[in-house]
Amino acid sequence: MSPVPFTRDDYAERMARVVAASGDAGVDGVLVAPGPDLVWLTGYQPTAITERLTLLVLTADREPTMLVPTLERPDAERAGGTAATTVVDWLDGADPYAAASALLRPDGRYAISDSTWAMHLLGLQAALPRTTYDAMTTRLPMLRAVKDVNELARLEAAGAAADATYEQILHVRFSGRKETDVAADLARLLREHGHEQVDFTVVGSGPNGANPHHEAGDRTIEVGDAIVLDFGGLMHGYGSDTSRTVCVGEPSEVIREVHEIVRLAQQAGVDAVRPGVACQEVDRAARAVITDAGYGEQFIHRTGHGIGTTTHEPPYMIEGEEQPLVPGMCFSVEPGVYLAGRFGVRIEDIVTVTDTAGRRLNNTDRGLQVVE
Ligand code: ZN
Ligand code: ZN
Ligand code: ZN
Repeated sequence: MSPVPFTRDDYAERMARVVAASGDAGVDGVLVAPGPDLVWLTGYQPTAITERLTLLVLTADREPTMLVPTLERPDAERAGGTAATTVVDWLDGADPYAAASALLRPDGRYAISDSTWAMHLLGLQAALPRTTYDAMTTRLPMLRAVKDVNELARLEAAGAAADATYEQILHVRFSGRKETDVAADLARLLREHGHEQVDFTVVGSGPNGANPHHEAGDRTIEVGDAIVLDFGGLMHGYGSDTSRTVCVGEPSEVIREVHEIVRLAQQAGVDAVRPGVACQEVDRAARAVITDAGYGEQFIHRTGHGIGTTTHEPPYMIEGEEQPLVPGMCFSVEPGVYLAGRFGVRIEDIVTVTDTAGRRLNNTDRGLQVVE
């Protein structure tokens, strides 16, 4: 099923919202190079390598303006949001930073997208030595955090595709195969269920599961292994990200015990979600369950991260993050316990904030499933 396309008005509204927010954030405007922010604001993602400067300039004192290389102008103009901007191009051989400077105040302060290449920022700094720049996620961390109905529908569809992938992976053979074989199955299934991009396929078997950053290696999976599965990517431009921990054959007592603690922690995290609650409260709720059970030292990462046009973005569910939850925010709740040299357990769902509570976008069984 294809989603409803974003319209020129959707993009124009996002750009207007950014201009309004930049005033409150203490900057004269926002500069956006290719990357997830540009996709969100215009639908434009240059296919070419972006050593040529492309820059969307959003300021209060002019209409949205998009500076593009002349040869990429036709591609840029095909994007729905570019139609809501004035397009200015620069020809190969010309100085793109001089062209950008003409759109900026010589003593301005701008937020610039995190994904801007350093060489472009250095070029801008050299062209306008008195301007200053801040990272977009420093000045406007919640820029893309609240999703509209169409974005939410895409995140739901991506979540459902990830769930279908999990349901099917339960029926493949695990024992005697390598982690990378199961990871390849996960990637294939995500694509079969509609993902255009696979970002990660974690298969952490046995002791490898105790390393949260382990992706998949050549370890052969054995009977008795607990296996952390964590996979996701982009579907129709929006992310999926879910984790479940399965066991090959009958689980040991300790695997059962730790899995149940993590399951209860994940439930407590989801139960803490409602509008107005600070992000750190979601982390605290999940962490308290694990700490009370004696495994606090083995929960070595934040409880969650936002998701949208990327699979990891603000808001972060972490101690110290006082940003209140707002209806429409979407983020993971993914506590884990990692026992070095033995095994790990993680359970993760994407959750959206409704008017009253949290609602999961992943709905597969969170019990400990036994695989072959
Ligand atoms: Zn579809
Ligand atoms: Zn994940
Ligand atoms: Zn995640």
